[in-house]
Amino acid sequence: MSIAYDYSRETTPPVSASKPKLLLIDGQRVPSACGRTFNTLNPATEQVIATVAEGNEVDVDRAVAAARRAFEGPWRTMRAAERGHILLKLVDLMKKHADEIAALESLDAGKPISGVLRQDLPAAIDTLTYYAGWADKISGEVVSTREDALTYTVREPIGVVAVVVPWNFPLMIGMWKLAPALACGCTIVMKPAELTSLSALRIGELALEAGLPPGVLNIVTGPGRVVGDALVNHPDVDKVTFTGSPGVGRGILRGAAGNFKRVSLELGGKSANVIFDDANIEAATKAAASGIFFNAGQVCSAGSRVLAHEKVYDEVVERLTQRAKVIRMGDPADRTTALGPVISEKQMKSILDYVDIGQKEGALLTTGGQRVGDRGYFISPAVFADVKHEMRISQEEIFGPVVSVIKFRDEADALRIANGTAYSLAAGVWSRDIGRVQRFAKKANAGTVWINTYGYTDVRLPWGGVRDSGFGREHGAAAIENFTEPKAVWVNLNI
Ligand code: NAD
Repeated sequence: MSIAYDYSRETTPPVSASKPKLLLIDGQRVPSACGRTFNTLNPATEQVIATVAEGNEVDVDRAVAAARRAFEGPWRTMRAAERGHILLKLVDLMKKHADEIAALESLDAGKPISGVLRQDLPAAIDTLTYYAGWADKISGEVVSTREDALTYTVREPIGVVAVVVPWNFPLMIGMWKLAPALACGCTIVMKPAELTSLSALRIGELALEAGLPPGVLNIVTGPGRVVGDALVNHPDVDKVTFTGSPGVGRGILRGAAGNFKRVSLELGGKSANVIFDDANIEAATKAAASGIFFNAGQVCSAGSRVLAHEKVYDEVVERLTQRAKVIRMGDPADRTTALGPVISEKQMKSILDYVDIGQKEGALLTTGGQRVGDRGYFISPAVFADVKHEMRISQEEIFGPVVSVIKFRDEADALRIANGTAYSLAAGVWSRDIGRVQRFAKKANAGTVWINTYGYTDVRLPWGGVRDSGFGREHGAAAIENFTEPKAVWVNLNI
């Protein structure tokens, strides 16, 4: 497989290699306290596209202090409707700058522009629009208790929120957290993944232009083990919302004990996409291929395990293999590209290691699993057949374009395998038997179940998992609860 990449495009100037991208603290774009910067690369070419301020603990302190002032000051006390209007102004600005934001995200994260324009950007805008609408609709309730009292609840913003975001959907996942937190009246210190800081910084600029008061949204870029660690352990942070790896998630939970921070964690998965013999095999395998190869498999809900009934197993393997072979891999900026590079050299090596591990475990690699070219982190989409449930490639999150196809005998066997990992984020099931798919949906250990489809998310539906997939739900009304605390009020009517 070769890459459709036009290297002559490298004459295009990078985002701004000479002018470092600065932190956003208290409404000001500032260099980091230590004055250091780091490079951010285009994963398709390994070319430096920008330098970014490298924050540290001092910057985190300043950002948290600014967020606290803004929380006690303008943001919390502003009329809720006015908060909503400011968020809607940001929506307008994101639409106005849509092409620029999409190009930045594609360049920085190596994401095919077609996917960014189809999913990441519209989802980010939809999320912000949705929660702008919530801002003035967050309410408590009157609760009957006793005759001589009026008793009611109000929901109050939780305070200063640490938003820690991964590199696979920097803009979209970032907005999943920013939008509800801001709508609720919280203030934010955000730490983008160090591999993908650019879209967040641009959104920060646009937020100021939209009228967000200084200190409401602060962005401190830099390494997770320095900036992220200082932020999630900070004694004046009230809540951490995190998407990333289970290892970092565990550390965040430990750190939260210091001041009893509230925490929500979204930590990925090893989702099963189950195809029964009565399914529409063409539709199922088409969705299974995009379910694993979209965003080069770097998706928390990637359908990285395809479970196929023994009667259709060979056909499923064959169809997935053929689909993998024809995916157009190449320049993320080209609108016909379906598969871009993976995010980094480290991620590429980790994925290639898993391909080795799978072969050593005895699985059959039917296609792909090779680095393609020697510039950029391109990996040809890989299909493993003859995968046994216990193998590491079937149990561990690879976070790359690698699918394991596992054979099952019957419904009970499918469920046992589907539920047999440490994760519980999402699952898919394909069958024309309405009873069977409903039974599966009931018993699947998953926060989301897709029936005869795969991969959809919508801000109106809760999103999240349990066990190694984390806890807490994003989206919908659940996110409003994430960023508010209920308060009970008693009024004595007999005084
Ligand atoms: P990671 O968990 O290290 O990084 C996610 C975010 O956490 C980044 O912003 C990072 O800077 C920050 N971070 C890192 N160390 C931190 C610390 N000590 N305290 C606070 N924040 C910290 O993930 P990664 O190393 O970039 O990727 C490793 C694996 O994680 C992937 O291969 C994949 O399996 C998983 N992952 C899952 C998701 C998801 O959507 N659930 C996203 C990214 C990565």
